Amino acid sequence: MRYISTRNTEKQFGFSEVILSGLASDGGLYIPTHYPKISNHQLDHWREIYTQEGYAELAFAIGRLYIDDIPLDDLRQIFRQTYTQEIFGHPLITPVRQLNSHISLVGLSGGPTLSFKDLALQFLGNLFAYHLQKRGSYLTILGATSGDTGSAAEYALRGKGCLQVVMLSPEGRMSPFQQRQMYTLQDANVHNLVYKGVFDDCQDVVKAINADIDFKQTYHIGAVNSINWARILAQVVYYFASYFQVGKPLSYCVPSGNFGNVLAGHIAREMGLPIHKLIVATNENDVLHEFISQGKYTPRSAVNTYATSSPSMDISKASNFERLAFQLLDGDGRQIQDIFSQGRPVLDIFNHKAFLRLTQDFAFASGKSTHGERLKTIERCYREHGQLIDPHTADGVRVAEQFIEDGIPMLVLETALPAKFSDTIQQALGFVPADILDDQGLAQLPQKFFSVGSQQEVMQYIARQRL
Ligand SMILES: *Cc1c(COP(=O)(O)O)cnc(C)c1O
Repeated sequence: MRYISTRNTEKQFGFSEVILSGLASDGGLYIPTHYPKISNHQLDHWREIYTQEGYAELAFAIGRLYIDDIPLDDLRQIFRQTYTQEIFGHPLITPVRQLNSHISLVGLSGGPTLSFKDLALQFLGNLFAYHLQKRGSYLTILGATSGDTGSAAEYALRGKGCLQVVMLSPEGRMSPFQQRQMYTLQDANVHNLVYKGVFDDCQDVVKAINADIDFKQTYHIGAVNSINWARILAQVVYYFASYFQVGKPLSYCVPSGNFGNVLAGHIAREMGLPIHKLIVATNENDVLHEFISQGKYTPRSAVNTYATSSPSMDISKASNFERLAFQLLDGDGRQIQDIFSQGRPVLDIFNHKAFLRLTQDFAFASGKSTHGERLKTIERCYREHGQLIDPHTADGVRVAEQFIEDGIPMLVLETALPAKFSDTIQQALGFVPADILDDQGLAQLPQKFFSVGSQQEVMQYIARQRL
């Protein structure tokens, strides 16, 4: 399989180059030249693989269609090492469970940091380690987090010899659980930098350092951010795995922010998975809902992005969206370049044809959920169905309810567990159920982090840590 950039379709790349560099040098996102089509026969075969040999083997069967520059035995080993019951807490890895008579939940959050991000980052961490070991090289992963990505990346990379992770987090902005999860890691290769500012400030520092080509090369700076193709690819697998558990054509509702998770669903469907509808659920930051319901894509600035009670979806510029836009615009890299390279475009970019394609051929739909609805949904699911769901999943359930159709199962992706957001659970229920208060003793553990207040200090820190 070869890869191209969404902004320049002439040059082709191999898988390993794509995942190690993350973003294409023209600023575009890497995509495969095509999505392999699966016959019904092959789908049946994959079902057998999943039910008889397990999730890791299914992931290998899918992954090998997109990865052809790693020897198959090594690749299989990477998947086997990643998707274990020990790490994800369940033999099915992503178990489907019923919420009520209409809706089921796909449990994606059984990994070490209790969000679906583990499913992709555990894989990416192993993939990076494999490449670096082979090359005798090393990498400093630099990132910024508003909560879930940082901890998932740190748990995926901790203890890996050829890698270190430097993660900026905004001082006082993450939930107490999220802070404990990150700052209690004592591994020598994990560095938490607590930044005096908000998430966007952290993000800006990371971008500025990445733009400093000399520094980047000298200190081998890399990234694991949400546009990395390997993360999308890893996420395609659980759409197949959940479909095999249900066994008939179905719809998915996906709590969305950067558009990575739902894009993976779209790719699964392009490959031949019988998905009826793909429903994008947003919170108050509803750029994607606005686009899918009205055809206008208007990214917003940081000051116009609300801080909500489903914080991991507080995104007003859905970076992965460019990959779908590329397809909607018939692979016109020049047009993508024009649209997406501008800073913050306010655009009516999609002609009628592209919009019909999105909503009819691709059957995307969308909805929005707000704080009050989120709390009510959490409360109702707990009282009526005895199921405690997290605020992001609640947005998904709330939106899914508007799209129920007879005879078509509706699956909502459970993107995090409620233990991470006990304040909102307290607000919704008036109390916090005892079983989610157990934070595995994290509160007792010592914390390790460093406070920084400028880009300069971050760079000095990295220079001191050179491997
Ligand atoms: C990251 C995240 C999302 C958003 O996923 P995208 O792939 O960015 O659309 C939703 N819910 C939770 C809990 C997350 O951590």
